[in-house]
Amino acid sequence: MKVLATRRYPGPAFDELDDVEVLSDVDLDEPRPDVEALIVANEPVPFDLLPKLRIVANFGVGYDRIDLATCTERGIVVTNTPGVLDSATADLAFALVLAARRRVVEGDRIVRSGRWSGSWSEGLLAEELAGSTLGIVGLGRIGGAVARRARGFDIRVLYSQRRRRETDLAEFRELDALLAEADIVTIHVPLTPETDGLVDARRLALLRDGACLVNTARGEIVEERALVAELVSGRIRAGLDVFAHEPHVPPELLGLPNVVLTPHLGSATRQTRETMTRLVVDNLKAFERGEPPLTPIDE
Ligand code: NAP
Repeated sequence: MKVLATRRYPGPAFDELDDVEVLSDVDLDEPRPDVEALIVANEPVPFDLLPKLRIVANFGVGYDRIDLATCTERGIVVTNTPGVLDSATADLAFALVLAARRRVVEGDRIVRSGRWSGSWSEGLLAEELAGSTLGIVGLGRIGGAVARRARGFDIRVLYSQRRRRETDLAEFRELDALLAEADIVTIHVPLTPETDGLVDARRLALLRDGACLVNTARGEIVEERALVAELVSGRIRAGLDVFAHEPHVPPELLGLPNVVLTPHLGSATRQTRETMTRLVVDNLKAFERGEPPLTPIDE
């Protein structure tokens, strides 16, 4: 089976593909009827150039840029990599919570710029993490991993999603109530037509003064203009790993002390990325053998 990959994906599993071409080495400027499988990292599928495509293996759990309706119409199977990136992404969410809440990056800048006066007993006071309330929007695989981490920090945990679930990880709240009650809010819903702009200007205004918003899900879920306005005003703090038009970051954020910015690092550990490649390759191999893929997207 001829596989086309949008890049060389990390780890040894990639070398188990015996007939793979990497898009950075070849031009896709004319139809390739020989290609039956495509590996993407949540990138649009060039359907017209791949008329014999049978499977799209997505490197990542989020697949909002893959046109599933067209895949279904053309009988193309789509897979993703759920589960294997939960720890890495939950860790990054927590890193952003800690960094934004405890002013870690602000402090780093002060030290590097030589503005540290040498006194530890004044200035740069932050809000305590212990005793605070964390609101998780989307208590799924990654949101659940965040809730488990929160236990060790003595935080009260709330969650919001469409379906209430039986869990001792967190207490359910409707979204508006969660936003108004939490000191820290972390977003873990997928980007869908329903969640696009879910946290809009009205909902951002519900956040308490000094609250901290962390987004490691997708930029479009939080209305970016409204978020920028709240951050510029200094009313809230944020830790952002994702943006509406990556790699574009709103320039107003770059000089702000109350926001920590990372370049979509959620799953970016060596172990997780290599495991994601392993799952991508195993999905392709199962499909090639005529077996059901391990992690198909069924919508
Ligand atoms: P998941 O297990 O499917 O969990 C998604 C959660 O969102 C579920 O609790 C679901 O509950 C809730 N949800 C879905 N639609 C909703 C809606 N319209 N309103 C409210 N809640 C909704 O997904 P996951 O594996 O944790 O991944 C979550 C997302 O994280 C991915 O889709 C991806 O975009 C993002 N991600 C980012 C990175 C990164 O590098 N920054 C890495 C990995 C993943 P209900 O169905 O009951 O509503």
